[in-house]
Amino acid sequence: MSATTAATTAMPQSALRHTPDELTFVTLDAAGEIAYFRSVSQHKAGAHNVTALDLDTQETFCFCRGAEFGHTCWHQVHAAAAWRAVAYRVRCERMDLATLEAHGHSLAKYVLDAERAHQPYVAAQMRERLDTARQVWRERVTRVTPLPFPFDSAPLLAA
Ligand SMILES: [Zn+2]
Repeated sequence: MSATTAATTAMPQSALRHTPDELTFVTLDAAGEIAYFRSVSQHKAGAHNVTALDLDTQETFCFCRGAEFGHTCWHQVHAAAAWRAVAYRVRCERMDLATLEAHGHSLAKYVLDAERAHQPYVAAQMRERLDTARQVWRERVTRVTPLPFPFDSAPLLAA
């Protein structure tokens, strides 16, 4: 396994040019301890990098070109934040509709309060959560329930 562990080295400059949402959650391992993310490779067209985050130790591994050469890459820097976004979305998805709506109203208030208090970092974090809650709400209320099939298809398929 040619994985490279995130060292205690300084944050790479590339981390400033990237965001956690560029890491797409793929899966958890069978034990639910390692989260795997995918991201588009900057070095090889059509290829993807795989980044792993140990949820217990917060240790990261990456299979990108930079990590191959021993560098701490932006994938590893943003992996924990990417996981927090996934976990938060799951939390929203598990809320019933009334709870989700109340949560969304609270978040909107937090955003306004933080903006009024000139706390742009807090406001941005709350806005990000609000966007996720809104997206989950939108998906839920627009979900189409399939109609019962209006006729028996067996004769059509047999023809
Ligand atoms: Zn990497």
